[in-house]
Formats: sequence, structure tokens, C-alpha cells
Amino acid sequence: MAPGGGAFKEAIESHSKYLNSEMSMMKAEIGNTPIRSSTSVAEKHGINGVHELLQCPSCADSMYPPIHQCPNGHTLCANCRRVHSCCPTCRFELGNIRCLALEKVAESLELPCRYQSLGCRGLFPYYNKLKHEKHCSFRPYTCPYASSECSVTGDIPFLVAHLKEDHSVDMHDGCTFNHRYVKSNPREVENATWMLTVFNCFGRQFCLHFEAFLLGTAPVYMAFLRFMGEDRDAKKFCYTLEVGAFGRKLVWQGVPRSIRDSHRKVRDSQDGLVIPRSLALYFSAGDGQELKLRVTGRIWKV
Ligand SMILES: [Zn+2]
Ligand SMILES: [Zn+2]
Ligand SMILES: [Zn+2]
Ligand SMILES: [Zn+2]
Repeated sequence: MAPGGGAFKEAIESHSKYLNSEMSMMKAEIGNTPIRSSTSVAEKHGINGVHELLQCPSCADSMYPPIHQCPNGHTLCANCRRVHSCCPTCRFELGNIRCLALEKVAESLELPCRYQSLGCRGLFPYYNKLKHEKHCSFRPYTCPYASSECSVTGDIPFLVAHLKEDHSVDMHDGCTFNHRYVKSNPREVENATWMLTVFNCFGRQFCLHFEAFLLGTAPVYMAFLRFMGEDRDAKKFCYTLEVGAFGRKLVWQGVPRSIRDSHRKVRDSQDGLVIPRSLALYFSAGDGQELKLRVTGRIWKV
């Protein structure tokens, strides 16, 4: 399939020009975010030395209870304990000895989030750190390009550049759009043909997804918007999508979903403009042999 979804041809008219420079400004802001150095904390708690102690000597991962040790006192993480029968450091046979002192030390530590270099300033008790990192808003995003096995991750400016360069996704400036989807064989929905366009407005980026799929047994088209950022910021926006002809119109008003929610999840929740195929063909005004949908939309701040 050609980049950008291929099966659909498109024509776009974007209005309301916004500054391209807003994106680079955003990048600059992120780059300049003052990151609190962990030095003071490290000094206070002697973290650097203790942190090394909490690194498994065998696999170098951080150790969490139960932390084991060999009869000679070499420590070992729970995973390595399962794998080894002898101490990887001294080759002595491993018993079932816990290192409670080190577990207690770990409990008393506060550590910076692993995404500190990406801007997170949080400090967390040792055992809460992992839990936080799973939901940290500074953790990298995964590529929003749908239906691909793309495993690229990064911050938003990086992913915008990646979508453009590696997926040849169309980028448009403006908060209103007028998007034409043309498909020569509208009966073909099984392969979930789809396409993605990215809009720059209010200095943020929005992914407009359009695709064909089977909803149960009913062939439908669906258009929806995803926000390239956190959910709490996505909720600061609203959007409408409209499609129609001959005095009839389908209108969807919604809130963009964060790209933290997978494309698939948003699609399956039907949180967008769902157009039954029969209606889509009616709006296409042909003999039912070609899909020609004009989807108009607008994004605004609430
Ligand atoms: Zn280990
Ligand atoms: Zn040992
Ligand atoms: Zn964090
Ligand atoms: Zn990608």
C-alpha cells in the first residue's frame, strides 16, 4: 500500500493559516525545560552509591523485593535467582537467603523518574517509581500511524517529523478542513483501507483518520480525530466532522482522543463520525461504483 493509506485519493483545502514556527517553538520550549538536577538528592541520600548497590550484579536491572544474596553476601535480583543455581559472582551454591537490609534501604530512597531527561521532575519512592513511569506524561509516545507495525517512539516534534519523512503523511496548517476521499472500489472494506492526515493548529497537531471497516457485518466508513499529546490536553479541544449532500447531512461533534489511546481502541469505541456505506454511496452521488466523500471539519479550543 502506498504511504498515507494509498487506496484513497484525496484533495484538501485548508483554511486559517497558522504559523509553522509554532511547532519549532514548542520544540525549543521542551529543549529548554529546566530539569532539576538529581545532584542535591544524590548528595542528601548518597543515592549514586546506593543505586549501584540496587543494581543486580548479574543482569544490571534494578532489584526489587525479594532481593536475594548468596552465602558470601553477593546480591542477586529475583529473576536471576530463578535462572541461576550458583552465585554468578563467586560460583557458590545459592541458598534461599533474602537481603532484607538492602530491601529496607531501597524503601527509604526517592529516585527521579527515568524520563527526567525528557522533562519529568518527579521524585518517587523506590517502589513507586516503576508504577509512575508506566503513566508518566513525559514517557515517549508511539507512532500514531495506523495499521502498521511501526514501533518508533519519541516526543511529539520527533513523531511529526517521522510521520512526514517515513510515512509520507500529509501535513496541513489550519483549524478548518475540507477533505475529499475518493475510492474506486467502495465494496472493498475487508482490508480496512484507511488514511491519515495531520493538522497543525493552535500550535498542536491532530491526526485525522479516515477508514473503511466492517462494524459487525455492516460496512461503514469512519472519520475521527486524535490529538498528539496527553489526554488532559486533548480535552481542551472540540471538533466537528460533517458529510452530506442533497440537503442531508451527518454531523459529528466530539473531543479528540489522545494518541495514548491506540487508533484501534478509538475506532472500536466508535468515538467519531460513522457513515454507513449505503449513505456514503448516496452522498457520493454516483451509480454506487465510486466513493466520493467530502468531509468538512473544524477544530476549536474549549
Ligand atoms: Zn538480575
Ligand atoms: Zn556469591
Ligand atoms: Zn515521570
Ligand atoms: Zn511510524
